Order: sequence, then structure tokens, then C-alpha cells
Amino acid sequence: MPNASAWSSLVDELGSFVMSGCCAGCDALGTLLCEECDRALVAQPVRRETPGGLPVVAALAYEGVAARCIRRLKEDGETLLARPLGRALSAAIAHAVADDAPAPLLVPVPTGRSAFRRRGYRVPELLIRRAGFQASRVLLNVRATADQRELGIEERGRNVTGSMRGRHARDADEALLIDDVVTTGATLDEAARALTTAGFRVCGAVTLAATPRHSRFPGNAS
Ligand SMILES: [Zn+2]
Repeated sequence: MPNASAWSSLVDELGSFVMSGCCAGCDALGTLLCEECDRALVAQPVRRETPGGLPVVAALAYEGVAARCIRRLKEDGETLLARPLGRALSAAIAHAVADDAPAPLLVPVPTGRSAFRRRGYRVPELLIRRAGFQASRVLLNVRATADQRELGIEERGRNVTGSMRGRHARDADEALLIDDVVTTGATLDEAARALTTAGFRVCGAVTLAATPRHSRFPGNAS
């Protein structure tokens, strides 16, 4: 029989193994993402429209395995998940852009300063890179906003209005907005307004996920 201290170090090791090596989708041990959960991250694009009429394609519904993986990426620093999630984003971008159309600039919705400080990375930009594209960082936050999760639909719109500014477009560039999760679409509408003011033509938005309309607990700040 191992003595008490051997048991306690074994328990410690198991604890750290569980923390570092369990599936983000279902907690199965020994993998960051099991095969079944990996399959749950295959894009099933759905179309939405923001209150301002901007067309949105979302790769996944923000629920179940996808929601858990996105939270692990956004809140727990699990950046390796950006690869399978970026694959889903890539499929949704292909869905949003017509084959014969010129490729638009992919413009990430800017990350707030406090979120960037907390995470050390910008989620939409990381997803664009992992999807195999280049991000055009032409949108800036010009003021801080309150956390959208705390707010109702109308308050969300007011909270973000006037919060962004676009760098000037060179030649009426076409832009496709990219964000991680769309809830009401208020953030995307503000981003589109700022880009249009700066001279871009905004053809729509693609998000990794969309909060189901029936959800009473929107899980994201958009
Ligand atoms: Zn799993």
C-alpha cells in the first residue's frame, strides 16, 4: 500500500492531468477534443440578419459542445481550440462569399482593451488566422463599452453606438465582418456603421456561432 504522502501526490498529479488533458466538449480524459466532439464542430451554417439588416452567416449554434469549446477558447486560454473552430469559421466564410466574387477584406470586430489584457489575444483575429486567412485590422474601439451580457436588446444597441471607428478605406474596399458569437447583432451593426462611414462597402458578417433565438441566457458580449 502506498503511504499517505504518495497517495496525496498521486491525487495531485491526477488533478493536474484532468485539468490539462480533458476534452473541452465532454470532459473525456486524455485529449483536448475527442473525435465525437470534433465532429460536433463541423460547420452547419445558418443565416441571420442584424436589427440593421446586415446579413450574417454563423457556422455553429452557440450551444452544447460548440458553446463549451468557445468558452474554453475565450475564457480559459485554450488557444489550441482555435484550430478546429477556425475550420468551422472557414466553411462559413466560404458559404457567405459567392465563388465568383472578389475576396472581401476580413475585418475582425475589435477586442476591448480589458478583454485583450485579460486574455492576451484577440479571439476573432486568432480564428481568422486559424481559418487560413489574413485579418484586416481596420476597425478600432474609440471608447469602452459595458459588458453586453448584462444588457437587454435595446440597451445593447445604445451601449455600442458610436463605440468604433474605421480606418479610411483605400478604394471603396469590400469588407466582411468577422466575430466569434452573434447574439442580438448590435455589435455587428455598430461595426458596419463605422466601416461604412470610413468608406468601406460592407457585404455582411460571418460569425463562428449564433446564440439560439430561444435562449434566455445569451452567452456572449455581442
Ligand atoms: Zn468530447
